[in-house]
Amino acid sequence: MQVMTDVEAATSAWMQLVEAVSDPLARKVLNLHCRDSNGYCQGDEYDGEWPQSPNWPCATVELVMDHLDQPAPAAASDTAWHWQRQRLG
Ligand SMILES: [Zn+2]
Repeated sequence: MQVMTDVEAATSAWMQLVEAVSDPLARKVLNLHCRDSNGYCQGDEYDGEWPQSPNWPCATVELVMDHLDQPAPAAASDTAWHWQRQRLG
């Protein structure tokens, strides 16, 4: 059994906060920027400022969660990917 590090646990808890957001506008934005099975954002940032799909959480998700006073843990975009990979086996 894998033991989660503190950062992984904080990121896991924060990902649940993201899923629990109920503010209507924030929910719509977050739904547009959900993560795919490879841990990338499914938003369309790659058409604009970024050259490719960013790791999830992308800057848009972090912006929304900052606005809701629930900022991502440090290094969440790296950690979320690894944590999800472990969870999926
Ligand atoms: Zn995004």
